[in-house]
Amino acid sequence: HRIIIAIDGFSSCGKSTFAKAIAARLGYIFIDTGAMYRAVTLHALEHGAIRSGIVDEEAVVKLLGETAITFRFNPERGASDIYVNGDLAEGKIRTIEVSNCVSRVSAIPEVRRKLVAMQQEMGRRRGVVMDGRDIGTVVFPDAELKIFMTADPAVRARRRYDELRAKGDDVSLEEIERNVRERDRADMSRAVSPLRQAPDAVVLDNSRMSVEEQMAWFMELFER
Ligand code: C5P
Repeated sequence: HRIIIAIDGFSSCGKSTFAKAIAARLGYIFIDTGAMYRAVTLHALEHGAIRSGIVDEEAVVKLLGETAITFRFNPERGASDIYVNGDLAEGKIRTIEVSNCVSRVSAIPEVRRKLVAMQQEMGRRRGVVMDGRDIGTVVFPDAELKIFMTADPAVRARRRYDELRAKGDDVSLEEIERNVRERDRADMSRAVSPLRQAPDAVVLDNSRMSVEEQMAWFMELFER
């Protein structure tokens, strides 16, 4: 039978890469919930609800009512692209500008309420691998399999740096490392659904593991 696999953990641990590989292997649907918080943040930036790094919470909440987030499967990527009000947002949500504001937007209770309800609806038919910060604790506390990912912060910053550089973004390793640490701090200390390891989650520290090694680890766990 098809289950729900919840993958939570720190920023830039490779959760999406891991979740995507699992979904491909099992024929499940992969849902990147971070992309949803990033899409709301991008929309807020583009509509003046965030200016000079200052998040106007009331304006963000007001915009939320007119922000339709949808996914469409992109066979080239083997994953779904995210759209905001019908516009492709996929390529614009992973910039350092969005990364620097997303934790403040994701701490707004109304934002979480709307996105969590969407995520629960998407998982209703099971057979999903969902990655985020609160999947095993809040979105699907009854998920059959929960994994909590972690890795050395320097390794994480390096991976994100290589990824952004490959895309041609002009960012420094220092700025990324600062962002990764700051997001972890903000995500763990927010009032609503802070980043926590679910008591029944299995920990995966992938600091020194390749994707293949992570998959081998997962299949052993899954088949148990
Ligand atoms: O996973 P990713 O790094 O793209 O997530 C971006 C941000 O979105 C996180 O730093 C966190 O603030 C927020 N987030 C969240 N809950 C989730 C997924 C992401 O608060 N389930």
